Amino acid sequence: MFGISKLLIIWHALWAYLLIPNKEVALTEVDTDAIYGMQSRVRSLFPVMTEQSDYFSNYKLNLYRAECPLWDNDNAMCSSQGCAVDTLGENEVPNIWKQLSEFEQPSKKNEKECNWEHDSKLDYCYLDEVSSGQECVYVSLVGNPERFTGYSGDHTATIWRTIYEQNCFVIDDDESSQEKSKRDSFYKPGMYPFQLTPKEDDIISVSPSIACQEKRMLNKIISGFHASISSHICENYYDAERNRWTRNLECWLAKVGNYPERIENIFFNYALLHQAFVKIADQLEDMEYNNNTFCPDNLAIDARTKLAFDNLAFQSQQDRKVIMSSKLFSDEESQRFKETFRRHFHDISRIMDCVGCDKCRLWGKLQMTGYGTALKLLLESETHLSDLRPSEIVALVNTFDRIAHSVQSSFWFQLRRRADLSVKFLQYVIALSFKAPMREILSFFTEQLWYIFYAILYICNVPRLI
Ligand SMILES: Cc1cc2nc3c(=O)[nH]c(=O)nc-3n(C[C@H](O)[C@H](O)[C@H](O)COP(=O)(O)OP(=O)(O)OC[C@H]3O[C@@H](n4cnc5c(N)ncnc54)[C@H](O)[C@@H]3O)c2cc1C
Repeated sequence: MFGISKLLIIWHALWAYLLIPNKEVALTEVDTDAIYGMQSRVRSLFPVMTEQSDYFSNYKLNLYRAECPLWDNDNAMCSSQGCAVDTLGENEVPNIWKQLSEFEQPSKKNEKECNWEHDSKLDYCYLDEVSSGQECVYVSLVGNPERFTGYSGDHTATIWRTIYEQNCFVIDDDESSQEKSKRDSFYKPGMYPFQLTPKEDDIISVSPSIACQEKRMLNKIISGFHASISSHICENYYDAERNRWTRNLECWLAKVGNYPERIENIFFNYALLHQAFVKIADQLEDMEYNNNTFCPDNLAIDARTKLAFDNLAFQSQQDRKVIMSSKLFSDEESQRFKETFRRHFHDISRIMDCVGCDKCRLWGKLQMTGYGTALKLLLESETHLSDLRPSEIVALVNTFDRIAHSVQSSFWFQLRRRADLSVKFLQYVIALSFKAPMREILSFFTEQLWYIFYAILYICNVPRLI
C-alpha cells in the first residue's frame, strides 16, 4: 500500500500545514519564530521565581485608595466574585516583604541604594510607594491569578477607548482620521476624558512625521498589553454552563486571533522585555551590581531564585540585538519628544486606578509597572538594576512571565484552530463517504486527531524546533 516515501511526504505536508507561518515583528530585528525559540529557552525559569519564591510571587500596591484621574470611581466597581482580591493579613506577609517595606523608606537604612525619589524623574510609570505610603496592601499573585473575571461592558470600553484615543498617538498623517477619532469618542455622563497637560499638547505630540517610530512603539506596547490581557482571559475562561475553567478558542479568535497586528504586538512586547533582560545581564556581569538577595532567611531558596533570575538574564543575552533601543530617541526632535512619550505612558499607568475590578486593576497596575520598568532600563542609560525599587523588579519579572504565556497561548490557539478546521474537513469527507455505524466510529477517531497532533508537537517541543 503506502511506501515509506509516501508516508514521509504526508508527514512533511502535515508539518508544513501545522507550522504557524513565520512573520517579521515590526520595530524589532527578529521574527516570530525567533521569539518562539527565545521564549521556549527561558519558560521553565519563570515558575521558579513567580510561583516558588516569596519575593516574586507577592506584591505590594495601593489597590483600593488610589485616586482615579478620569472620574469618580465609587459607583463603577465590579461586584462579580471573580473580581475580588484576597489580600494578605499581617501574619501572612512573608518576611522578605516586611524587610523590603522597611527597605523602601530611604530614611531607615541603606539610604544610598534606596533613595527611590532620586530617580523618580526617570520613571515611566506612576508608582504607588512613592506617592501613597501607607495605603498599600500585600497580595499573593499566585493566590489571585490573572484570568476571566466577568468585568466588561461600557466601563471597560470607555477605559480602553480613553487609553487609545487620549493617550496613544495618531501616526496616520491623514488629518481626517485624527478628527474622526475625536468625533467618535464617547463618555458616559460623569465620565471625563483625561486632560493632557497643555505643555504636552504641542506640535511634537500631534505631528505625524516627528518621532514616528517612537510613537508607534508606544501604541504597540499598549495594544500588546491589551492583547496579552485578552489572551489570559481566554486561556483561563470560566465556562458557566459546564461550571469549569477552560481554554476558549472562540474568545481568543474574537479578541486576538482575528487581528494579526494584535498577535504581532504581543511578540513586540516580548521582544521589549527580552531586551531589558539583556541589559540586566550586562550589568550582572559586572560584579558590583550582582549582589541581589531574594530570600536572606533561607539560603537555599535565595540561591535557587537568584540562579533563575541570572539564568533568565544570561539566556536572554544569547540574542543580544532584538530591539535596537540605541536607535530610539536618537535625533534631536525625538529626544525632545521623549518627555511627552514618558508623560503619556505615565498617564496611561494612572488610568489603571480607574479599572473597576480589583483583580483586573491589580494585574493592570503590575504589568504597566513592568513595561515602565523595561522602558526605564532601555531608554535611560544611567538606570542600573540596583536603582530599581523591589516592586519594579517583581513587576518586570511577572510581566515577562505574563507575556511569555501569551506568546505560548498564541501558538497553542493557532494550532488548535488549524486542527479544528482539519477535523471538520475530515468529518465532512467521512460523512459523505461512509454510512453509520462506520461514519460515527471514524468521526470519533478523527476528533481525537487533535490530541495526537498536540502530543507529538509537545513531545517534539516544536516552538524550539521551528
Ligand atoms: C487594565 C484592564 C485590565 C483588565 N483585566 C481583566 C482581567 O484580568 N480579566 C477579565 O476578565 N477582564 C479584564 N479586563 C476587561 C477586558 O480587558 C475587556 O475589556 C472585557 O473582557 C470586554 O472585552 P471586549 O471583547 O468587549 O473588548 P475589549 O477588550 O474591552 O476591547 C475594547 C475595544 O478595543 C479594541 N481592541 C481590543 N483589543 C485590542 C488590541 N489588542 N489592540 C488595539 N485595540 C484593541 C477593539 O476595538 C475593542 O472593541 C480588563 C480591563 C482593563 C481596562
